[in-house]
Amino acid sequence: MSSILIVGAGQAGLQLALGLRRDGHDVTVVSNRTPDDIRTGRVMSSQCMFDAALKTERDLGLNDWEADCPPVEGISLAVPAPDGSGGKAIDFASRLDRYAQSVDQRVKMPGWMERLERDGGRLEIHDVGVDDLERYTQEHDLVVVAAGKGEIVQLFERSPERSPYEQPMRALALTYVTGMTPRPEYSAVCFNLIPTVGEYFVFPALTTTGACEIMVFEGVPGGPMDCWGDVTMPQEHLAKSQWILETFLPWEAERCRDIELTDHNGILAGRFPPTVRGPVGELPSGRLVLGLADAIMLNDPITGQGSNNAAKMATAYLEAIRRHAEAPYDRAFMEAAFENFWESYGQYVTTWTNALLSPPPEHVLKLLAAGNGSADLAHRFVNGFDDPVDYFDWFMFPDKAEAYLATVSTEA
Ligand SMILES: Cc1cc2nc3c(=O)[nH]c(=O)nc-3n(C[C@H](O)[C@H](O)[C@H](O)COP(=O)(O)OP(=O)(O)OC[C@H]3O[C@@H](n4cnc5c(N)ncnc54)[C@H](O)[C@@H]3O)c2cc1C
Repeated sequence: MSSILIVGAGQAGLQLALGLRRDGHDVTVVSNRTPDDIRTGRVMSSQCMFDAALKTERDLGLNDWEADCPPVEGISLAVPAPDGSGGKAIDFASRLDRYAQSVDQRVKMPGWMERLERDGGRLEIHDVGVDDLERYTQEHDLVVVAAGKGEIVQLFERSPERSPYEQPMRALALTYVTGMTPRPEYSAVCFNLIPTVGEYFVFPALTTTGACEIMVFEGVPGGPMDCWGDVTMPQEHLAKSQWILETFLPWEAERCRDIELTDHNGILAGRFPPTVRGPVGELPSGRLVLGLADAIMLNDPITGQGSNNAAKMATAYLEAIRRHAEAPYDRAFMEAAFENFWESYGQYVTTWTNALLSPPPEHVLKLLAAGNGSADLAHRFVNGFDDPVDYFDWFMFPDKAEAYLATVSTEA
């Protein structure tokens, strides 16, 4: 059994730590925030996870909130009509084959941190710097950095060929609310795409105070939804959220007549450039650390994949460590652990997510319009969120899109 230290108590770091602990490894997690800091702090994400990622948690017995968390049973897509009539040019929905769920990280991460200590792992509270990493690499067989968007991840070199954007592509905001009118048919991620302005999606979740809805705003930089700069007070943030819906998405505004913030920390605004980095961080001494999840594969939240990636990459690393047995954790091990994940899965999620950040090409517009009339297409589009690799067989390329459309047109 190995001694493994993980920097970062997020979805990836804690899921890997708890899995390793279950296998009998000596595990330490170092977090720059205590469980209480996280529990009582600001929301960080909308963290909607689809079935394949939820299964990785279930497999480790980590699904403590599954019974309490409202299910997300489908996904709908709407595009406003260009004539400004308040109608919809595209409007379809489908059920997910298996439900998705979103448990507020302020609930899940403190729970998992406390669980780690109960399971015999160590939790240290410290803001890790490069000098600490030097020490950790001498004291442990493997050091994993799962520090998300923390400064420390600059240690990993940006991969320009895998990172097409140098600037943030969306101004992001979150608003956690109660009192929203439920979607009548079944619960869903209601995804709205406003050409040239941005995207808005909303879905049920479990937060610190119980069930809620999470509103996610993705504004094109410089556009009217890039509007959070002068918002300081929580009530102003709520009012700005409602203004966006009233201005661009009247059917969503209608659901929000009586909404209230879940708590004064249920809001967030920010932006970052999507960035893929090399998986091996080399310290000044030449010692090596391994990057995990957002630390090295940071995608824009437009497709809601980051927590899913974090869970799946943590699982891939857990399996790589199992296969590795007693061999040293050298550069070859680290590169293989990430590259196997990237080749089989990560590259597809990243390419698809980055594609949705640019104006949609002709074939995508045609596909989405066809979703209005084809239940099969709508079902395939919706369930791709659980396994985005499927989009590369029909959605991502004009020739494959044409071939697919030819098969669904008769069913439409
Ligand atoms: C607005 C928004 C909406 C999102 N919505 C979704 C969604 O619906 N679905 C989805 O799947 N994903 C979503 N994501 C992405 C998802 O939240 C992240 O991809 C996921 O949390 C990444 O997990 P992680 O463990 O890699 O990093 P994180 O969750 O960022 O955890 C990293 C941890 O490391 C700690 N840390 C940082 N630096 C140090 C240091 N030097 N020393 C010690 N500790 C340190 C941090 O405090 C943090 O606790 C969203 C993200 C945003 C911003």
